[in-house]
Amino acid sequence: MRQPHRSKMADTHSNSTNDSSENPAISLDFIRQRVTDDVAAGKHGARVQTRFPPEPNGYLHIGHAKAICLNFGLAAEFGGKCNLRMDDTNPLAEDTEYVESIKADVQWLGFQWDGPVYYASDYFPALYEMAEKLILAGQAYVCSLNVEQVRQYRGSWNSPGRNSPDRDRPISENLELFRRMKAGEFPDGSYTLRAKIDMAAPNMNLRDPALYRIRHAHHHRTGDQWCIYPTYDFAHGQSDSLEGITHSICTLEFEDHRPLYDWFLEQLGIHRPQQIEFARLNLTNTVMSKRRLLELVKQGLVAGWSDPRMPTICGLRRRGYTPQALRQFCAAIGVTKFNSTTPMARLEEALRHDLNETAGRVMAVLEPLKVVIENIPADQVELRTAANHPAKPEFGTREIPFGREIYIERSDFMENAPKSFFRLQPGGEVRLRFAYVIKCHEVKKDPDTGEIVELRCTYDPETAGGKTSDGRKIKGTIHWVSAAHAVDAEVRLYENLLLVESLAEVEDGEDWKNQLNPASLRVLRGCKLESSLRQARVGQSFQFERNGYFCLDSEDSTAQALVFNRSVSLREAADKSA
Ligand code: ATP
Ligand code: MG
Repeated sequence: MRQPHRSKMADTHSNSTNDSSENPAISLDFIRQRVTDDVAAGKHGARVQTRFPPEPNGYLHIGHAKAICLNFGLAAEFGGKCNLRMDDTNPLAEDTEYVESIKADVQWLGFQWDGPVYYASDYFPALYEMAEKLILAGQAYVCSLNVEQVRQYRGSWNSPGRNSPDRDRPISENLELFRRMKAGEFPDGSYTLRAKIDMAAPNMNLRDPALYRIRHAHHHRTGDQWCIYPTYDFAHGQSDSLEGITHSICTLEFEDHRPLYDWFLEQLGIHRPQQIEFARLNLTNTVMSKRRLLELVKQGLVAGWSDPRMPTICGLRRRGYTPQALRQFCAAIGVTKFNSTTPMARLEEALRHDLNETAGRVMAVLEPLKVVIENIPADQVELRTAANHPAKPEFGTREIPFGREIYIERSDFMENAPKSFFRLQPGGEVRLRFAYVIKCHEVKKDPDTGEIVELRCTYDPETAGGKTSDGRKIKGTIHWVSAAHAVDAEVRLYENLLLVESLAEVEDGEDWKNQLNPASLRVLRGCKLESSLRQARVGQSFQFERNGYFCLDSEDSTAQALVFNRSVSLREAADKSA
């Protein structure tokens, strides 16, 4: 596996933490405050050890990025360590493809875990020993109720549960049955191992939860070695404990599980990490649960996990998001204790903010209209000098060819233009960026369809760089590309994946996928790009002037057929008016 250079990762990361520590407006969030207090009090020997514990049952998404930035960020800020652990206790949904993608995504975000990658499956023997220990202590029993019966016995929020008929099974019998479960003597679902806590506990998680289930399934790492698997609840807290985690940061829905995790650790007498819960990230107009993302992938409604419309890290990367933008976004939204939904516009704004500083400017015409400049001879080409960044001279300049035939955006010409239209119109003038003022004399149309196919214009040689010598005012400036030198490309424009802000708006019983935005992908073919874009590389971002920020598509672009993705438009409102 690719291991990035350590010191480089450290550099990237210290940049990200500086971003927030240099900003006096950002005060300590409740988690950082708590860790600060723990360190000051010498708790856990003043150590800070966190972990990011994904289940390898899908690709990571922007919500995970929030947890990654938090856990790795805490470790870096407190001089501690952060583990990466695959919580791989469910053999049915997990796969090494996901493991590899998780590692790659964490590193791409700019973080490096401490030591090797850990796996909950490495703790299967230790967890098994713990289970036997609980049995021997009379705190766990083998239960023969099936799933439906367990549900019935469990009670509800306002009524206590009932004890399983197997709850008082003798210890020796529990031990024998559990060993036979492990030996593969019983079919799936015939027995479970359950904790013996309290069937009347107000917290349902304490009503004799399952610790082990029989599952004759192949595990992506342990193969067929096991046919019983620990539940997530039984594995998670003890895995943290075994790794010496000091602060187990997790999302709010695990708040009610904390008493159970603490119960296990107490009964077993092992190291007790401090669990702290925070609100998960929700974004408008997209889906974030791996189950739903998998549905989109499996049903072919998107082009895989890395489809640029997906909120996955690999999708965002392919779309043109940078690690800096994602880390900036996570720092800006902060961590809180209450659930909320962040507007997608904030994520896009973080990307614009980053790319505005780093992306070189180029010209590209997405919906081309040919313009013939009649007073330029066919063989004449003049090189115009263009700045690569309007505010950063250090970006340098480039030479762009200007000749008799150019392309402009169709939307930059209007035949019967209103007064407020400052671009090109019959008899009107417009400035060509970095070149000259042109005037339109004639509009050529397709005789059959009436569609405008060409404009005949002249240029004013006295307006080099767009300045008029006689003081006349030219209000509009448009971008253009030399027809003889242009590079053809396909350009893909994206909009939100979902029409609704939140799936909470979807009626019960309605398929949430009815809310997929049919306009989420728009493909433009025959776009005309400035020739310098032939050298574009994957991972580079460009501002196509007036059209947004773009990058080469990492999967579909070839030397013969270039494909660019729009990462984000220049302004929050859709830039349909150009
Ligand atoms: P999902 O609910 O999206 O399927 P998950 O919680 O099942 O995700 P895990 O692989 O268990 O996914 O998540 C790994 C870690 O990432 C967990 O510790 C969880 O707290 C965190 N995490 C997952 N989703 C989010 C989110 N939307 N915001 C913040 N943290 C998240
Ligand atoms: Mg989970």
